[in-house]
Amino acid sequence: MKRFIIAGGGIGGLATAIGLAQKGVASIVLEKSAEMVEIGAGIQLGPNAFHAFDYLGVGDAAREMAIYIDNLRLMDAISGQEIAHIPLGDAFRKRFRNPYGVVHRGDLYGVFLRACQAHDLIELRTKAQVEDYEQDGTSVTAILANGARVTGMALIGADGLWSNIRKRVVDDGPPLVSGHSTYRSVIPYDQMPEDLRWNAATLWAGPKCHIVHYPLSDWKSFNLVVTYHNDAAEPVAGMPVSHHEVRRGFEQVAPIAKQIIDKGKDWKLWVLCDRDPVMNWVDGRVALLGDAAHPQLQYFAQGACMAMEDAVCLAAQTEALSGDVERVLQSYQNKRRLRTARIQLQSREIGQHIYHPSGAHAELRNAVMGAKTPEEWYDLVDWLYGSSGLEGAVTSSR
Ligand SMILES: Cc1cc2nc3c(=O)[nH]c(=O)nc-3n(C[C@H](O)[C@H](O)[C@H](O)COP(=O)(O)OP(=O)(O)OC[C@H]3O[C@@H](n4cnc5c(N)ncnc54)[C@H](O)[C@@H]3O)c2cc1C
Repeated sequence: MKRFIIAGGGIGGLATAIGLAQKGVASIVLEKSAEMVEIGAGIQLGPNAFHAFDYLGVGDAAREMAIYIDNLRLMDAISGQEIAHIPLGDAFRKRFRNPYGVVHRGDLYGVFLRACQAHDLIELRTKAQVEDYEQDGTSVTAILANGARVTGMALIGADGLWSNIRKRVVDDGPPLVSGHSTYRSVIPYDQMPEDLRWNAATLWAGPKCHIVHYPLSDWKSFNLVVTYHNDAAEPVAGMPVSHHEVRRGFEQVAPIAKQIIDKGKDWKLWVLCDRDPVMNWVDGRVALLGDAAHPQLQYFAQGACMAMEDAVCLAAQTEALSGDVERVLQSYQNKRRLRTARIQLQSREIGQHIYHPSGAHAELRNAVMGAKTPEEWYDLVDWLYGSSGLEGAVTSSR
């Protein structure tokens, strides 16, 4: 059957279906949940995400729902003072040809879901958990938990951090537990301390802990994500926890930073996981995409952006190498694996050297980062924001 099978209906899976449909390729998305929804509140979108939106034909809808922040702001959580900020105004937009935005995950997901629902070439199926696959050189069959079988010309494993498809393709065991506990909450706008209602993605960096907040949903609320490196040993996703537990990691931070945490409610915990990068994401007619391929700590705020870039690259390769599925998947993997490996590895590094240092390490961070000009910041992130990771993707098969 001439269609792609996509295991997983997260941002990566839906973006893939849209990218393929734009090239005239049909797909079926198999999502294990009973409903197509995205959990969590805010998400940051670098200019590279907007390059991907445009390529996927959802640029206008995505731009409409974003808040465009003025700065990425780095604060010292101990002194309460600003260390540095990266201005995101005209000079940034001109340099990277797109803005930096923040959105509600549900809004972003809704844009992708509506685009999928509106397309004749995309079928969405829920309660469809892919357990395994078989392939015979001309087709691939996804085997579902309920025993159903779905056959197509390729299978894309966009089934997230705990991917079943990855177990077969890479077989590198469970994800690595970072020991970092992340607690998420949302603060209604009028409960955010007035002097902190900044139009910025703000990071308060402290010893083995940090706080991130930014405005959401047309300024109705603030997204709040706080992380504590407490050597948590077990992976956790979305578990409700008490305010007291969250507070415990932040006793040493300045009152101005602590008061933000005190505004949080209905906290949910994630113990963060990632994996070491691997060079092979492909098994014949099967390939991995998004978190299934390159799960990362969130410190670059790029996991969803990378999943969307993957989708764009796969669609471009499908068009360029029409008909030859195995070459398409190899070419896609070759174009994506180093860029995503860089994010995986550097996310760990910036966690250690920017988000969580203490003592002399933190003083050094403040001195180095505080001395940079906007242009120096832009040069540093040029490899990430200045590129869509797609250079040559359409014309070259290597
Ligand atoms: C605290 C935190 C903050 C973050 N902030 C940002 C940010 O600011 N910017 C950014 O770009 N990224 C951010 N990320 C990362 C981003 O959320 C993920 O990288 C992104 O959602 C991955 O998308 P995905 O579609 O690959 O995987 P997922 O979103 O995990 O989707 C996988 C889908 O597959 C389904 N599924 C799983 N197994 C199966 C199966 N066997 N069969 C069928 N379906 C299956 C799941 O139900 C799910 O719907 C953050 C992550 C965290 C934890």
